[in-house]
Amino acid sequence: MKTIQIAIDGPASSGKSTVAKIIAKDFGYTYLDTGAMYRAATYIALNNQVSAEESSQLLELLEQYPISFGRAENGDQLVFVGDVDVTDPIRENEVTNAVSAFAAIPAVREKLVALQQEIAQQGGIVMDGRDIGTVVLPKAELKIFLVASVDERAERRYKENLSKGIETDLETLKEEIAARDYKDSHRETSPLKQAEDAIYLDTTGLSILEVVEKIKSEAQEHL
Ligand code: C5P
Repeated sequence: MKTIQIAIDGPASSGKSTVAKIIAKDFGYTYLDTGAMYRAATYIALNNQVSAEESSQLLELLEQYPISFGRAENGDQLVFVGDVDVTDPIRENEVTNAVSAFAAIPAVREKLVALQQEIAQQGGIVMDGRDIGTVVLPKAELKIFLVASVDERAERRYKENLSKGIETDLETLKEEIAARDYKDSHRETSPLKQAEDAIYLDTTGLSILEVVEKIKSEAQEHL
């Protein structure tokens, strides 16, 4: 059966991973959360007191503690550095607010992009991130650029945090999301930007299922 590559890019908290996971499951494809890889690299750096200026030390650490994925009994994706499960710690604020600086390091990107491309060789894939359509999978059959207003993204993140029992301040969340978008869009290497052949999809006011259905119907055109 024919399989395709689906690249979903967009700013922070635009719902990429939620829809990407559902589409991958429905199509029986691999789902790869590339943001989790940059978060894992950031976690390694912070844990070893390595700054974003000390890129060669960070690269050595990435050799020592390879980033990999596993699966929990309930089917959820797990993220490891070496043999340590970092699935939850990489979502913490300290990592979230530091990740853009580490993700801007060209050598870190080179290493992680090579790994992402290797994983994509395995067949049908849904990959989400910032540079998937532009750099990682430039030949992906379907490219989506998913956006939503900062207010809506902050509210979604606020509710998600509440459901996990994490107290956050909505205004602070808005500021953090806007700051991360700015850094990710203005870095020199592989900035966040829409690929020329990507479909622009504004999810403000749409439900998750509506977004999933739109992307799936676009995917069907290529199958
Ligand atoms: O997708 P998520 O918000 O978890 O990504 C965390 C961070 O990782 C982003 O803010 C960005 O700095 C970086 N990232 C990236 N390229 C990707 C995916 C994520 O630079 N393909």
